Amino acid sequence: MVVEVKVSTPYIPAAEPLYHWRQRWPHHLTPDGVAALARMIPQAGGERELIAVRTPFTGEQIGTVPACNAADVNEALARARRAQKTWAQTPLAERRAILLRYHDLLLRRKDELIDVIQMESGKARRHALEEVFDVVVNCRHYAYHGDRYLRTRPRRGALPIITWTWEHRHPVGVVGMIAPWNYPFTIPISDALPALMAGNAVILKPAEETPFMALLGAKLLREVGLPDDVFQVVTGHGREIGPPLIAGVNFVGFTGSTATGWIVAKQAAEHMIRCSLELGGKNPMIVLDDANINSAVEGAIRGCFSNAGQLCVSFERVYVQSGIYDRFVSALVKRTRSLHLDAGLDYQVEMGSLVSADQLAKVKEHVEDALARGATLLAGGRARPDIGPYFYEPTLLADVTPDMLTVREETFGPVAAIYRFDRVDEAIQAANDSPYGLNAGIWTRNERFGRMLARRIQAGTVNVNEAYAAAWASADAPMGGMKESGLGRRHGAEGILKYTESQTVSAQRIIPLAPFPGLNVHAYAWATTLALRVLRRLPFLR
Ligand code: ADP
Repeated sequence: MVVEVKVSTPYIPAAEPLYHWRQRWPHHLTPDGVAALARMIPQAGGERELIAVRTPFTGEQIGTVPACNAADVNEALARARRAQKTWAQTPLAERRAILLRYHDLLLRRKDELIDVIQMESGKARRHALEEVFDVVVNCRHYAYHGDRYLRTRPRRGALPIITWTWEHRHPVGVVGMIAPWNYPFTIPISDALPALMAGNAVILKPAEETPFMALLGAKLLREVGLPDDVFQVVTGHGREIGPPLIAGVNFVGFTGSTATGWIVAKQAAEHMIRCSLELGGKNPMIVLDDANINSAVEGAIRGCFSNAGQLCVSFERVYVQSGIYDRFVSALVKRTRSLHLDAGLDYQVEMGSLVSADQLAKVKEHVEDALARGATLLAGGRARPDIGPYFYEPTLLADVTPDMLTVREETFGPVAAIYRFDRVDEAIQAANDSPYGLNAGIWTRNERFGRMLARRIQAGTVNVNEAYAAAWASADAPMGGMKESGLGRRHGAEGILKYTESQTVSAQRIIPLAPFPGLNVHAYAWATTLALRVLRRLPFLR
């Protein structure tokens, strides 16, 4: 192997820390802006503990939100039930118009949204931009295709001409969303759009770290005409308000850790409501000998370090075929060491901060454990308090072994392990050797072969020559996880039909389906047997 192992890295430090965003503090996060957003939270009255929200760029407090309790959740539920009755009667064309106005508003005001996303999550601007684009894509998709998914469909009846059957779709009622901090705009809002289009009310519980983006998303929905209380945000601790929320809604959509996902799934089962869960991943990237090196390196950079690796679909395992291994790894190490890591509200920055001290501690623990057990550090491996309290360098490891924490668990940070393989079958087997099955990437110049291999990987999405965005942004196609990566899908038909109850209405004409009084049952049995034989043979009726 020709990779030079060097720990020191030439990341560009913040030249004048924070000056470039101090000058344009987002107006939504000024004391008045924060107070206006917090006023939208339904409250049942009484004093509430306040949760401090800090910007990961510096650790400074940017505002507080109330830690709502069960009474607040019940207040939101009561309002949602009232509002949903009227909303469900709103013509689909009106719902579509609201989504399209939201689409245009988000594009017009994307800069102020991105400012808030960055301030709350500490991510680089280019990664915050993806959040706005994602919501916009979902607005367009469900605005234009929602009625196709939701329309009443005639179905084949039990007997042609005699039985007439229709399938209707009704909103489930009130949908609860429990969202994580890593994509504070994309995840809850993109998931809420199809629920709203289907005629539901939504109550969102954002992560404790990132409530303001959820509130701003709600505020802008009102600005484009969504009636009051159809979309509400309750802030607070998941352990306290998760259970009353799940107890009161008709469907719960959860995105977060697999550990919390189990808890949510159990609660949903106790209340006999359906849920969708998008959970963890330990996603593999496979680079074949014939891959374009530059494209594979850029794919690895995006796949491993987007949002500082705090992305459920990010790559933490990179499998590289022997013939390209040395060239690919040395190019990737060089590119990783040159990444522009910084705090700032401009597009130059290539990677931002981790979200919190907890995340930083976990990343440090995984890397230190791997190094103590004999892993080789190819790039990164250090916290960068000189840039901000939770910054950590993008890190590449080699020679990892199954006893290491970073191999056994999802790190959810900017840390990837590189593995060498000879035969394609080995890579597929290794990629599938995981309790997770969320996303995967394959790099090859033979796209047809790549697509064929993709079908052998146990993952809900597989991207050929792309890290995650191709499958994720194809809003017409389902996205979600196999195995312990989740239940259910977002996007496409599944992404909206899950928020509906199907109802079959059948009308029987001319003769009943069952023997009726006075009919000889032998004659009925004979005639029905004949009818079933004929039906099996008629191409347009079977
Ligand atoms: P993390 O550990 O990275 O914060 P979680 O999966 O715990 O991720 O959090 C995702 C979301 O789930 C957050 O909004 C959090 O408040 C919420 N949450 C945490 N615990 C529970 C719980 N017991 N019931 C319902 N929601 C919860």
